[in-house]
Amino acid sequence: MSSEELISSVSDVSDETEFYTPLPNGYVRGRCKYVVIMGTVMSGLGKGIFSSSLAKLLQDKGLRISPIKLEGYLNIDSGTLNPFRHGEVFVLDDGMECDMDLGTYERMLDQDLTRANFTTSGQIYTRVLEKERHGDYLGRDVQMIPHVTGEVKLRLRELAVQSSADVIFVEIGGTVGDVENAYYIEAMRELAYEEGSHSVCFVALTQVLEPRTLGEQKSKAAQLGIKRLMEMGVQPHIIACRATNPVTPKVRQKIAQYTNVPLERVFSMHDCESIYVIPGMLRDLGYDFEVIRMLKLEDRINLRHERRAWLEWCDFVDRLDNLDKEVTIGITGKYTSVRDSYASIIHALEHSGAHLDTEVKIAWIDTTEITDENVGERMVGLDGMIVPGGFGVRGAEGKIRCIQYARENEVPYLGICFGFQMAVIEFARNVCGIADADSSELSPGCAQAVIDILPEQKKIEGLGGNMRLGGKDVEIRPDTLAWHLFGKKKKARMRFRHRQEVNPEYIDILTEHGLVFSGKAPNQPIMQILELPGHPYFIGTQAHPCMTSRPLRPQEMFLGLVKAALERKGCKV
Ligand code: GLN
Repeated sequence: MSSEELISSVSDVSDETEFYTPLPNGYVRGRCKYVVIMGTVMSGLGKGIFSSSLAKLLQDKGLRISPIKLEGYLNIDSGTLNPFRHGEVFVLDDGMECDMDLGTYERMLDQDLTRANFTTSGQIYTRVLEKERHGDYLGRDVQMIPHVTGEVKLRLRELAVQSSADVIFVEIGGTVGDVENAYYIEAMRELAYEEGSHSVCFVALTQVLEPRTLGEQKSKAAQLGIKRLMEMGVQPHIIACRATNPVTPKVRQKIAQYTNVPLERVFSMHDCESIYVIPGMLRDLGYDFEVIRMLKLEDRINLRHERRAWLEWCDFVDRLDNLDKEVTIGITGKYTSVRDSYASIIHALEHSGAHLDTEVKIAWIDTTEITDENVGERMVGLDGMIVPGGFGVRGAEGKIRCIQYARENEVPYLGICFGFQMAVIEFARNVCGIADADSSELSPGCAQAVIDILPEQKKIEGLGGNMRLGGKDVEIRPDTLAWHLFGKKKKARMRFRHRQEVNPEYIDILTEHGLVFSGKAPNQPIMQILELPGHPYFIGTQAHPCMTSRPLRPQEMFLGLVKAALERKGCKV
């Protein structure tokens, strides 16, 4: 049977065939192409950065792109994952809690993604088991192949229909050889077989080792890693070699020879100073046209579109390269040793910095050690401060002290989610005189819970998926700082992930003492932005504004913070 016949005849389960390829309504074979990105040798190669950079180059050429990340773990989403182990939990507009790589795609592609762009093994197996209970497999024994792999292909094809993408970028989590990701690779092998030639482009990322003691690049681990992939029936079309330094022609030749990949498709992808220069590097090396040729996309690209998009991008990258001012922003936090837990914030500061030709240096502040006595000396040299999102009591009192210092000493302040809530507690205690003001998260059963659990969350049990999640509209009060920041718009859309909120019973007393709630949820008494008139820049939000910052469109509250920090330093803005 040809793959064409196969795909048209086996969409239903039957006893007559071993094939199982359910197709969503409206799926047209060959319309959508797939680029599959896999990592070999080790994790942490930057698959997401590579994949999103390559995707951007195709998007610039007028192609419609949709990425999907396939995660191997059994969690249904990333909501219950510890950011210390897994990096920050990124929240999509539709409320999906996902891997931080989705943030990378949103930033690179300047595109809002949905839950269709992310799956875990937990989701795949859940769907299979639900179908089994529902009797959908008609008495068949349900197997990894073809049923679980069939579900993976179905997810991709559903995304193809839903997004009308020209190209879907499939990023497979983990490393080739992991037990938990093996069935994803098998599903991709089947996909390539069914879709036919020029439909699926396999890209393997690998690591070229450079042991310091040898002083030369070694390709054996890379060869073995790719070989492992080939043992699984997948012949890569393109190999990207990660390395500290540019990969030498000899090493590339060796890898080409052992993997059947033509030398011109074995690329170096060495370390760069910023992820934003990677699209340019891939473009210079010609990755984009190799993919276009592989997938026969020549007729669909628009080079005039690319010229415009590329110019804008280069302007951003040039700015990053020529930052002539500098500010230092302090960030307090529990996960201070792991930058990945604050990835979106770091990027948002970089975007705003580029826009203002300013290098934003970050000073991490461990708040578990902050006391009334040392807070002043810890704040020396800071031009601004952020208290980011967080959970739990550890370091919270130190954060409150830092906020008090920022408020009293005119240090520009941006409070994000937990940082917004801590600013309310600080104000209630030190300005309104409510000495015991607290949050019921930090001090359960406290008498003066100015921050309390949202009524709608009280009913929900368990830790997974029980927060107020996703993109929500924020109604902005005219003539406030927020209103000016958002270009005098009455509405802003921001991403949320919280269980607690300002207790409505305290809103009057807080506002009587001068706190202004300049953003709230439409038709609900949920306070979403606060500010302090008279202070150069004191603003907080219950949302995570960092998650909607994009390279060419820095988020307004971050831009405001960096501007205020520059002004504090006496720089012209
Ligand atoms: N822990 C707080 C809450 O649940 C803040 C959450 C956050 O910062 N994302 O409301």
